[in-house]
Amino acid sequence: MTDLTDLTLAAARDGLRAREFSARELAEAHNAAVAAARPLNVMVTETPEKALEMAAAADAHLQAGTAGTLEGIPVAVKDLFCTEGIATTAGSHILEGFVPPYESTVSANLWRAGAVLLGKTNLDEFAMGSSNETSFFKPVTSPWRRRGDTRDLVPGGSSGGSAAIVAARAATCAVGTDTGGSIRQPAAFTGIVGMKPTYGLCSRWGIVAFASSLDQAGPLTRSVRDAAILLGAMAGFDVKDSTSANLPLPDFEAALTGDVSGLKIGIPKEYRVDGMPAEIEALWQQGVDWLEQAGAETVEISLPHTKYALPAYYIVAPAEASSNLARYDGVRYGLREEGAELIDMYESTRAAGFGPEVRRRVLIGTYVLSAGYYDAYYIKAQQVRELIAQDFRQAFAGVDAILTPTTPYEAFAIGERADDPIAMYLNDVLTVPANLAGLPGISVPAALSEGGLPLGLQVLGKAFDEEKVLRIAGVLEEAADFKARPERWWEAV
Ligand code: GLN
Repeated sequence: MTDLTDLTLAAARDGLRAREFSARELAEAHNAAVAAARPLNVMVTETPEKALEMAAAADAHLQAGTAGTLEGIPVAVKDLFCTEGIATTAGSHILEGFVPPYESTVSANLWRAGAVLLGKTNLDEFAMGSSNETSFFKPVTSPWRRRGDTRDLVPGGSSGGSAAIVAARAATCAVGTDTGGSIRQPAAFTGIVGMKPTYGLCSRWGIVAFASSLDQAGPLTRSVRDAAILLGAMAGFDVKDSTSANLPLPDFEAALTGDVSGLKIGIPKEYRVDGMPAEIEALWQQGVDWLEQAGAETVEISLPHTKYALPAYYIVAPAEASSNLARYDGVRYGLREEGAELIDMYESTRAAGFGPEVRRRVLIGTYVLSAGYYDAYYIKAQQVRELIAQDFRQAFAGVDAILTPTTPYEAFAIGERADDPIAMYLNDVLTVPANLAGLPGISVPAALSEGGLPLGLQVLGKAFDEEKVLRIAGVLEEAADFKARPERWWEAV
């Protein structure tokens, strides 16, 4: 494999502009890497020909001096974003055969900036999961392995394919979505950078909806700079999404000044969860030391309602999902199973089309929204959500950003936690609060565990303060100097 697949987005961009290689060469190298990565099951749909076509257009733009910010950059897109004329499955049997007649706003923004599509990445069904094991198209395998152990590990989820493909050096970067942690957690598990922007920064139009008040698109990359560049291309106001923020877009890359002196960083004591491994606590302390050495000040803060975040999330998210997924009835999209009467057709289509995790969410969501339980569960969860948002508002009156670990533990083996939904939901205990409050968060690879697996640190910021979040993340990245990468065992499979 040529080292073109090792380049960061920033390096590929600069190399293309300096004519060191062409967009076509870059696309060919990545098409080959995607094919070689098939044992990892990272893609639902590969689009190698589309990549070459887009690369040819990119080369013409580079030649003509009309290159966009992502001109010629190979991108993998989570198969939750509708792509015109290209199958979009959301990892579900119920959408099999669905070919969208329109393009999501975020992906349209990427193509306008000149990016090249490598394919649509595997994910948990309807983005419901933390391990990529709920996909109808089978689990994604992490490119990482524990030291001295050949068991297949999960890459995290739900954007597991997007994370694994970037970590495996088969895509320069990828886009994902994060409803409760689905960008940050897989980024942490696979040793890459993953960012969930402020709710409203990236348009949700054309993204298959899971929980609309929580869903947000964001970048998965191998550096903080790359995250800044990709986010800049993805983000922006969109009249087609009523929750899209009509604000001027800053130059995110310019925010990476490396200067955090004088910033105040909060360390929330409630994020020290029961049973957190000592090495994760130690890494967190290491993060504190790194920021202090760079001139920031750290203070302990309290986010008192943290322990209610996960229970509130697992009411609000399924409630919205049960409503959003009502549209899959066999009439409008994808799969149809015939039945004697119309209602039988609905029932047999949904029974055949949805996997167990999606059914569980639809059942929970329908239950908490039903008359008699609505006040006890749904309204209560919304009130708790407001208290969580208020915790953050109070904390941010005194600090610029918050530092936490991204996950309470490292990646686990495929199958290891699949039978216990509650244990699986615990994956998101440190990421979910930011979704409930709509705040930006980023995970930066910071160290390897004793077992040789990546661990991430998370920076959370105020709403629409992505610049500061990125700047702090950049300082952590430099201090951590994380150079580890998975061995390419899958090429020999
Ligand atoms: N793991 C969480 C869930 O299953 C979050 C998923 C996501 O962010 N899409 O709901």
